[in-house]
Amino acid sequence: MQNTKKYDYLVTGGAGFIGSHLCERFLSRGRSVLVLDDLSTGSLANLDKCSDNPSFRLVRGSVLNKSLTKELVHQCRKVIHLAAAVGVEKIIREPVETIETNVMGTENVLKAAESSGTHVFITSTSEIYGKSEDVPFRENGDIVLGATNRSRWSYACSKAIDEFLALAYWKAKGLPVVIGRLFNTVGPRQSGRYGMVLPRFIEQAVSGNPITVFGDGKQTRCFSLVYEIVDAIISLIENPDAVGKVVNVGSTQEISIGDLAERVRRISGSDSEIVLVPYEDAYPEDFEDMHRRAPDVSLLRTLTGKTPEADIDTIIRKILNN
Ligand code: UDP
Repeated sequence: MQNTKKYDYLVTGGAGFIGSHLCERFLSRGRSVLVLDDLSTGSLANLDKCSDNPSFRLVRGSVLNKSLTKELVHQCRKVIHLAAAVGVEKIIREPVETIETNVMGTENVLKAAESSGTHVFITSTSEIYGKSEDVPFRENGDIVLGATNRSRWSYACSKAIDEFLALAYWKAKGLPVVIGRLFNTVGPRQSGRYGMVLPRFIEQAVSGNPITVFGDGKQTRCFSLVYEIVDAIISLIENPDAVGKVVNVGSTQEISIGDLAERVRRISGSDSEIVLVPYEDAYPEDFEDMHRRAPDVSLLRTLTGKTPEADIDTIIRKILNN
């Protein structure tokens, strides 16, 4: 294959929930997109709206494949690295895959990018803040993780290594990188299979099954609509001032999981019962949850001029109507 910049963007994990929305947005803006995805959690169906576009190509493969990753990175102007093991349940069930994909996959992408000087967006996570109680979380705040015998923390830890590595490539080798710490992102096409709460609640409400709130339901999260997150990612990769920065990407509208369950039930017109499920029944191992999670988004606003705004009722309606 020729070593030319045939595509504007390489999206690793482009067949996933966020990746597929990102591809659609790029194509709608007239950009060309190459996707590398092993279809482990993503699917061809997610790319239904992209696959016939002549500016789009999917390569089925893994970011763990060094030579393939390098070959594809070299064909693109910029890289959005989304491929990762995601979802709390999957992480607990498949701890080896989680660590290897997240650490080695990112290393492969950064190495390949370095050899061609390619600008990279690294997708990180709000999970990084762990048990920190210094809410709202600022990018420079401390991260507080639990013990290594609790698999959940391997995700945050592997993403922290990704961040360190990406920043090291920037500082030591001048590779242009930007790191986005995504907070809870939701929207059409997200699967509840890997533990994500909102698609699960909606599925339960629509099918009339009990809505399962884990713990006491007082834990909080900030949910953002995927379209706004995708726009933020594009703004960040296109802004030279974002290079070398770690940026929170999320909404500041905080809601408790118990309240979320109530809203899903009301908006969907469901008569499902809402049940509290103790963590020990919900997860396969001694589980620690985060009580509060909310971002400080000042840096995102400075760099992109806006922050995600869709309110939770609108988000629930959009998913229900999809
Ligand atoms: N959760 C819940 N019921 C479910 C799935 C998740 O109450 O069926 C809770 C989960 O324990 C957590 C919150 O919802 O407190 C968000 O979970 P999710 O896995 O979506 O994301 P994360 O924990 O990474 O924020």
